Amino acid sequence: MPTKLPPLTTFCRQCGWKKSLPPMGDVIMGLPERCPQCGNPDLQLKPSSLLESALRVLTEVAKK
Ligand SMILES: [Zn+2]
Repeated sequence: MPTKLPPLTTFCRQCGWKKSLPPMGDVIMGLPERCPQCGNPDLQLKPSSLLESALRVLTEVAKK
């Protein structure tokens, strides 16, 4: 059984910008080289928590 990657969140410690990245096999899609908000090239990456993902889905659904 293939291992499923957890969703990742990339975030900027400088300005608080963050973005969740959907797992696409072993490649991280859409990972920016630097923060689009403040230009900080030192973006942090962490796995999104399950709770966070669930909340995001609920928020998306509620918007429609
Ligand atoms: Zn930033």
